[in-house]
Amino acid sequence: MPCEALASSGSRIVATGNFADVRRLAGPDTQMIDLKGGTAIPGLTDTHVHLSEKGTAEMELVDCRDFYVDVHSVADILQRLANAAASAPKGSWIVAHGSPMQDFRIDDHRFPDRHDLDRAVPDNPVSISFGAHVTIGNTPALAAGKISRDTPDPAGGHIKHDPQTGEPTGELHERAQLILRKVAPEFNYLQLKDGIVFALNQCLQRGVTTVHDIVRYAEPVRAYQEIYKEGRMHARVSILPRVIESMIETKSLTDLGLITGFGNEWLRIGGVKMSIDGGITGRNACFHEPYENDEHNHGIIRIQQDELNHTVQVCHDAGLRCCVHAIGDKAFDMALDAYENAIEHSPRKDHRHRIEHMGNWLATPKLIQRMVRSGIVAIPNIAFAYYIGDAILDCVGERRLTKAFPFHTLLKNGVIIAGGSDSPGYWPVDPLRDIATAASRKMRWGEVWIPEERISVSEAFAMHTTTASWVGFEENDKGTLEVGKLADIAVLAEDPFAVAPEKIRELKVEMTLVGGEVKYQA
Ligand SMILES: [Zn+2]
Repeated sequence: MPCEALASSGSRIVATGNFADVRRLAGPDTQMIDLKGGTAIPGLTDTHVHLSEKGTAEMELVDCRDFYVDVHSVADILQRLANAAASAPKGSWIVAHGSPMQDFRIDDHRFPDRHDLDRAVPDNPVSISFGAHVTIGNTPALAAGKISRDTPDPAGGHIKHDPQTGEPTGELHERAQLILRKVAPEFNYLQLKDGIVFALNQCLQRGVTTVHDIVRYAEPVRAYQEIYKEGRMHARVSILPRVIESMIETKSLTDLGLITGFGNEWLRIGGVKMSIDGGITGRNACFHEPYENDEHNHGIIRIQQDELNHTVQVCHDAGLRCCVHAIGDKAFDMALDAYENAIEHSPRKDHRHRIEHMGNWLATPKLIQRMVRSGIVAIPNIAFAYYIGDAILDCVGERRLTKAFPFHTLLKNGVIIAGGSDSPGYWPVDPLRDIATAASRKMRWGEVWIPEERISVSEAFAMHTTTASWVGFEENDKGTLEVGKLADIAVLAEDPFAVAPEKIRELKVEMTLVGGEVKYQA
């Protein structure tokens, strides 16, 4: 229910109502904030980010991502690299990042190769990644990684060679990227901490007051605790430690007796993450049917069913909520098999287990039925549609994607969906963009894509407020502006329910409060 005024005390909301009534509660020391016609909404939640891992990159890497900066061609990329090299010590590494499938969008319709990079930066090793699957090095970088024409492909990776000369082109796929990553300099711990603070502050600029962050090793967890103690943590974080293909083991968590919710209002354990298949942009998501023009490729499975069942069962029994990454329909089936198995062994209603990326592709009626029956939450990421839906169509084929991001169908059938962006490596954390896309289906590439799967503006907001808070086991503290809840508030320049849905992504955030304190002001 809309209201004129709201009062908070401590960190919580103590009154809502008309201006005169709320005004009466103010004492001599009360800070009064006039929204000047702006609209206060509950602070937004992003339920799937890689903030601690990628936040540092935001600060330290040369940015060539076409979603962030003005880059339209190979020449634009080379210019940015040359500029960075001009101020770097001779021989030091230039590490840069572009966007996934950027070759599809830039004028040249290709990535730069080592010779392009050599022309722009001859004396410093250069490594530039485009999304999670492709990294390109110049000649000094390849030399540092000892990559020559005779270097064999590593397991799970590919070194691209020029078919004429047999020389490596500089392009490294999947696990071959690790060769450069191992020789390029790592971020140190202080940079990691500053990167997290920076990335959390960027979240506040888009009205985000809570994120669910996936971590794979100890340092980010330690960094979060220190940042909190140092008073530098201005948005709330639910940590999802990843197990399997990670530095963290399931046993470390269960040995400590950690359960979901451990921590406080600022920093807590939100559950356990694991990944069944690969990503769709690298054609590694695992489908029952093979990829378009690639009849032997079904994608890859990273956790076999036995190990998955066991891990899910152990976490389920220990009181740790599971967040299983599954993108292809084969991986969905495996995730649901594991969940059904665990729930049957130890029935528990309030598990709130999730499937990350479910609701992006191929949500068949049978899968939907299984989700609803077991009460599994779907975490779709509509930013993928907004930014690269057209490129994915091209790569995996229309047949598989005719029902991409079927939010209307999911909600109608009773599937619980909450929004996650998979930011900030690919694109910024920005639920207002994702709400606008879900409600308008207007994509960055111009098309109104599958308009019958539009959802209402309030349904789209729920994915980042009420439902997202429930998914975080925090529905008593967050998600609405009600007496007793935390005063986590975003102030928008205009009423999002009064503008065209696609315009919501352009709404300015004037101010963000967390626990009643102004943490960001435009
Ligand atoms: Zn992710």
